[in-house]
Amino acid sequence: MLFADAESSYEDADYVVFGAPFDKTSSFRCGSAKAPGAIRNESYNFETYNPHTGIDLANLKIHDALDINTGGTVHSALFSVESVVTRCAADGKIPIMLGGEHSLTLPAARQCKPSGIIIIDAHFDLRSEYEGEKYSHACITRRLFEDVTDNIVQIGIRSGTKEEYAFAEQHGLCYLSADDVLEKGIDHVIREVEKCTGHEKVYISLDMDAIDPAYAPGTGTPEPFGITPRDVREILRRFAGGCIGFDIVEIVPEIDINTASLGAKLVREFIASNAQETTR
Ligand code: MN
Ligand code: MN
Repeated sequence: MLFADAESSYEDADYVVFGAPFDKTSSFRCGSAKAPGAIRNESYNFETYNPHTGIDLANLKIHDALDINTGGTVHSALFSVESVVTRCAADGKIPIMLGGEHSLTLPAARQCKPSGIIIIDAHFDLRSEYEGEKYSHACITRRLFEDVTDNIVQIGIRSGTKEEYAFAEQHGLCYLSADDVLEKGIDHVIREVEKCTGHEKVYISLDMDAIDPAYAPGTGTPEPFGITPRDVREILRRFAGGCIGFDIVEIVPEIDINTASLGAKLVREFIASNAQETTR
């Protein structure tokens, strides 16, 4: 099954959706490997027309490259992501990765060569390594910071070790906690993010556990007191325009299928918002 409205050929497409069914480094609840299929299924619930943007997704050129072969190890999974995103970036197409776990963001973001990265997540993911694995989902922001760009903003943060908080402080990492979003409002947060990343050549990574478990309980590591789906939608609406790549990770559909449904909707919001900017 294809993601809804993703019926273009690769050659014609402006957007390339692909699934990365991999969850081998998941530390708490596994099952994000089943998310790409669930997100595709749920995507058929929604109308093709997006009333906020005036964009009809049926008129866009979207290709679904199906699921990549993630093999057995984290390295083979990362390499498969790297291959498909390298090709998309070379051909001027926007890759949209349906994870899978957060570790997959490293090759996806790196191959897009972004000038800035926006990470929406409950967790810092700033560990140097986790359970002996440097490329664990729990280390993704650290890897991006070291290997891709130090121009990173994190939104929705509310969980990290003392060392991770100290690392963020020490390196001047820009982050906005879930409480910042609630207390100062999403407009303030967006202005802060703009100061750090700007709007051009931004990569956005959405770890679904950023959203409060009341709305999105189906994640690998649910963390209470999160941000709302509306906050995430607003971030996508404001930054999708200059975005060169997007991923959505850490959905575990077996726990809650509505989290996959929300994920599918947010992917569609991303595409419509990007298309609105580029057709303006
Ligand atoms: Mn994460
Ligand atoms: Mn997380």
